[in-house]
Amino acid sequence: MTVSQLAKSIAESPTLKLNEEARLLREKGEAVIHLGAGEPKNKAPIAAILSSAAKLSAADIKYTPTDGIPSLKKAIIRYTEENYDRVVAPENVIVSAGAKQSVFNVLYSIINPQDEVIILAPYWVSYPEMVKMVYGIPVIVKPEDGSFYPRMEDILKAVSSYTKAIIVNSPNNPSGVMYSEQFIAEIVEYCEKKGIFLIMDDIYHKLVFDGKTSTSAYKHTKKDIESTHVIVVNGVSKLYGMTGFRIGWAITNRNLMSIMSNVQGQITSCTSIVLQAAAEGALTGLQSAIDSLRLTLENNRNVMMQELNSFSGIKTTKPDGTYYCLPDFRAYSNDSVKLSELLLKKALVVTVPGKEFGMEGHLRLSYAGSIKDVTDGVERIKWALDPNSPNEIYIGDRKLVRDWL
Ligand code: PMP
Repeated sequence: MTVSQLAKSIAESPTLKLNEEARLLREKGEAVIHLGAGEPKNKAPIAAILSSAAKLSAADIKYTPTDGIPSLKKAIIRYTEENYDRVVAPENVIVSAGAKQSVFNVLYSIINPQDEVIILAPYWVSYPEMVKMVYGIPVIVKPEDGSFYPRMEDILKAVSSYTKAIIVNSPNNPSGVMYSEQFIAEIVEYCEKKGIFLIMDDIYHKLVFDGKTSTSAYKHTKKDIESTHVIVVNGVSKLYGMTGFRIGWAITNRNLMSIMSNVQGQITSCTSIVLQAAAEGALTGLQSAIDSLRLTLENNRNVMMQELNSFSGIKTTKPDGTYYCLPDFRAYSNDSVKLSELLLKKALVVTVPGKEFGMEGHLRLSYAGSIKDVTDGVERIKWALDPNSPNEIYIGDRKLVRDWL
């Protein structure tokens, strides 16, 4: 039986795979600590639940317009005005099954075979695979100085006549860093001048710490929504911890939006009305859920940094936001896949290999769980790797003795 070469070449999502591995181990009763998670432990905002429950109670669950129900689009328009200072029309908004589908839909709708898309490393695992899925070519730009901050000059070197788009995710999954306002301004100006699409994946844009705020790309362009090359992607998954509701959206010009709508209409028809109602509830309800999630994450980030900084050999870059950090473990191994496997097998801690994000020698650690997950998780990693740490540890009610260092 032959299958598509292209489909065969697409890698499994490493993060989803690790979630499944952790779930199976937990099912077997193993005391796994999941530092790989891309979702917090909060409950969904009550406004989201009430709004979707009302839809369910009405028992009238049917197709919706492909691009989303008008009331949700209205809430997204208000969100865009409040957070981006941009007034957009319903024809500029398309709702999809998560920001993931929004990014894919944008790429599908703008990329011709062999077009190049610049991706800044470290990058979210799905970008290169999505670009390949639409027959485009991912071009990775990696900061030469080993930092997590790409420079404009490196981007310029990577641009060719085939460059169709640049994807920017700030604050960034996996590093947690936020790019400077000046960098965003430069990249916006360059893309507008050259007619290159700038896909801003803003999924973490309000989960920013230390009193900082993220930069809106719109702030740095004088072009209106119909002529700008800036496309903004966002969603409720990370902002409200509503990952399971699968609602995201893209903001773009009317022409591209209607093309994306045609594409989506042929694939998913629309997202579920129940889940769109939940997203609408979250967006129009009390916004304190975002603040409390942000404060919890900031506190967890502080604990994670404290724990990692007492771990000899590990180099850290303090995250400005998101759920993640990406410490450098090269003092222990240059092979992040093997290292992550060792940590799961020996210490029952899930981490994500930096290789998946274009940063070999690093591990992505999530602080989206509890403080105890963070402290116990890092303690287990120390135990597994650092010969100076005590060589016995309790995992659940089992005493484990380290015999491999
Ligand atoms: N973009 C980035 C950078 C992400 O980290 C994620 C989720 N891990 C997504 C998009 C997808 O979010 P959603 O759940 O809305 O599809």
